[in-house]
Amino acid sequence: MAADTPYRLAVLAGDGIGPEVMAEALRVLDAVASARGFAFTYDEQLVGGAAIDAVGSALPDATLQACEASDAILFGSVGGPQWESLPPAEQPERGALLPLRKHFGLFANLRPSVCFPSLTHASPVKDALIEGGFDVLCVRELTGGLYFGAPKGTHEENGEKVAIDTMVYKESEIERIARVAFTAAMQRDKRVTSIDKANVLENGLLWRAVVERVAKDFPEVALDHLYVDNAAMQLIRRPRDFDVVLAENLFGDILSDEMAMIAGSLGMLSSASLGASKEGGLYFGMYEPSGGTAPDIAGQGIANPIAQILSAGMLLRYSLGLSAEADAIEAAVRGAIDDGARTGDLYTGEKGTEKVSTTAMGDAILSRLDISQS
Ligand code: NAD
Repeated sequence: MAADTPYRLAVLAGDGIGPEVMAEALRVLDAVASARGFAFTYDEQLVGGAAIDAVGSALPDATLQACEASDAILFGSVGGPQWESLPPAEQPERGALLPLRKHFGLFANLRPSVCFPSLTHASPVKDALIEGGFDVLCVRELTGGLYFGAPKGTHEENGEKVAIDTMVYKESEIERIARVAFTAAMQRDKRVTSIDKANVLENGLLWRAVVERVAKDFPEVALDHLYVDNAAMQLIRRPRDFDVVLAENLFGDILSDEMAMIAGSLGMLSSASLGASKEGGLYFGMYEPSGGTAPDIAGQGIANPIAQILSAGMLLRYSLGLSAEADAIEAAVRGAIDDGARTGDLYTGEKGTEKVSTTAMGDAILSRLDISQS
């Protein structure tokens, strides 16, 4: 019999394929907990379109309270055509995701761009450049910079419209995101590439100076810098050379999408948004697949659950400090892919592979989960 859980998770499956892929992620978490002799406590709550239909709000009070009372949030995805005619602020994404990010001060966005050796054909990048796959973690500042700086707006000047956006960063904002990147690098290959435009922007000079200062606290991590224009080219030309890529909000927005594209398979890409730091280098965070609700395949039991399962793995790593267990989940996913399991989005008819359902992919991953080795 499992002991009482030390961990409480808010589970917000959302809409479309959300509940289907979330079920598989919870099965994997249950297997991890059972092997370690405890059970997670899940507080499953409505969010997004499902919550609008049930109680008239994309983020009901009960959901927010459950998140506040939890160690971390495991999120599915929200939205769909049936809610697109609502006023923008009431729609599932705007009404749930943005308020959650704001409420919990989620300032760091982590998006792994992973291309497994046997799935390089799914990437639009030439095989020769990505043979053996790649594994890059994009760390993007999420609450500052050009998107939020003041002054902001459009006014008339000499008979024409003028638009103003302002890039502002405080040292403290740069420092906290740099710490996230270096802390993550310590669990990976211990390399950080910091992106800026220090040849043109004041923000770039400050960014570079603060990142170099933070680097002194992580002597094991190798740091290099790239201008953002060069980074956009180098990430495509030689993605295997990168480990952690650190960038401010706008640059990170663009580069993390570029990296999602070259990884090739949307159903494989997890993400984390981290907020307040806790003791021991851990963070409160919200963990979710990079993709959306996939209305075109929802309800058919064919969605790829890997992004949701890897998001649960990130939750263990960054919010609970269960790195060995997170490693085991990632290894199990690689194992299932090596064994030939492919959901429809990955299946190309390649010899030795089999097209499987969402649940069968969950089974394949569970069959490769080896917690005792970790
Ligand atoms: P999408 O990511 O849902 O789908 C794009 C394509 O990728 C579709 O063909 C879909 O079938 C496929 N796909 C995505 N995830 C998959 C998975 N796990 N397995 C297999 N195939 C998968 O993007 P979209 O079609 O632009 O958006 C659909 C809805 O999702 C919209 O309402 C949008 O607003 C919402 N959305 C929500 C989030 C979020 O909750 N964070 C993010 C993006 C989009």
